Amino acid sequence: MAPLAAGPRVLVLGAGLAGGLLALALAERGALVTLAGEPAAALGATAISYGGVPWWAGADDPLGRLQSGAPQAWKALAARHGDLGWRSAELWLHGPRPAGDALPLPHAPAGTWLTAAEARRREPLLALADPHGVLVLPYGRLDPGVLLAGLERCLPALGVSRCGLLQEPGALAQARRAHDHTVLCAGAHGDRLLRQLDLPVPPGLAHSWAGVLIGRDRSLAAERIVMPLQPRRPAREGAGAGVAAVLDAGLAPAPGGGLLLGQTSWFDQPLAPSAAADRALLADAARLLLAGHDLDPALDLAGWTLQQRPVAFCHDGRPLVGPLEGAAGVSLFCGFAGPFALVPVLAPLLAEAVVSGDLAPLQALGVLPAAR
Ligand SMILES: Cc1cc2nc3c(=O)[nH]c(=O)nc-3n(C[C@H](O)[C@H](O)[C@H](O)COP(=O)(O)OP(=O)(O)OC[C@H]3O[C@@H](n4cnc5c(N)ncnc54)[C@H](O)[C@@H]3O)c2cc1C
Repeated sequence: MAPLAAGPRVLVLGAGLAGGLLALALAERGALVTLAGEPAAALGATAISYGGVPWWAGADDPLGRLQSGAPQAWKALAARHGDLGWRSAELWLHGPRPAGDALPLPHAPAGTWLTAAEARRREPLLALADPHGVLVLPYGRLDPGVLLAGLERCLPALGVSRCGLLQEPGALAQARRAHDHTVLCAGAHGDRLLRQLDLPVPPGLAHSWAGVLIGRDRSLAAERIVMPLQPRRPAREGAGAGVAAVLDAGLAPAPGGGLLLGQTSWFDQPLAPSAAADRALLADAARLLLAGHDLDPALDLAGWTLQQRPVAFCHDGRPLVGPLEGAAGVSLFCGFAGPFALVPVLAPLLAEAVVSGDLAPLQALGVLPAAR
């Protein structure tokens, strides 16, 4: 698709899921987009994500209803731009079957319960596990490797310019001045960028470190995403304080082949790059994964690598999408709960707001930073 007539010059900071899809939506609307950042860099969460699309996980409100259109949004993007990694998948939620099948997921589609024995028969990776019971739900998944490669392919075709990380305050300020509008799509790095730009950090924006073990052995091929029925991470995010680390035992296909085994979430850790390389932290995380992992203690984990990436979230569970109050020409696009379901449906609305100034659709969703 050729770029439309010249529109506003927009600087998008961050080239992961959020920045990539926003750059795409802006360019489709005629904006002259510069996308800063390195998609596969060690900084970004997108590259090692499970990529699950919980389209049914939103509240019964306008944002939740918009989120339910995520599969259609991904398919429409693929129809316009080629394969971006959407795959139908199964989600397996393990845990004791609730009395009366009352689920903690009121909007989830109808699923099927498997006994532990049936689950072990169908998924060899669970051969020695005790998953209690498993609820099987229809799901969608984006292969992060295919997504990031697809964006690299289609963004230049839409006229999007690229530059690397803008880490020096001077370079950031200069790049901001050279554009009409700047959008922060830097995930957990957003608060650091805001401070570097001398801008206020909205209350409630926080981050945790998500950790996984990655096994590259291609004979380990999970066909499904396995997670707890009652994951601990969202509850800890909502609480705003509490234990330092939680484990949500599960597995997923690894981008590019192999298996992800996870997932640890570490809270209240600094965002300095040294935190990712801190040996004690990594050793603790590995111990937590191995000792606490109730799925398959017999997996030979020698040769697996542990990777951790910071992930942004908002304590109230609502993302920050739209202009930052008190900062002319700066918008936020971060803090998602379920970004693979929210980003594809919110990116077109934010792009429209940047290009036309119409904030009404974002206001109706309750996601504007000024509303906090
Ligand atoms: C193991 C794991 C499993 C997950 N599973 C799921 C799941 O199943 N479903 C789901 O919806 N979500 C899941 N998530 C969360 C999801 O992957 C992330 O929240 C999402 O990918 C974040 O996308 P993003 O674009 O906002 O941020 P990121 O992907 O973190 O990208 C931020 C970008 O900003 C760039 N950046 C940083 N500083 C600068 C700078 N100064 N200048 C320019 N660029 C900069 C970085 O290089 C990076 O590319 C998971 C995360 C992990 C780690």
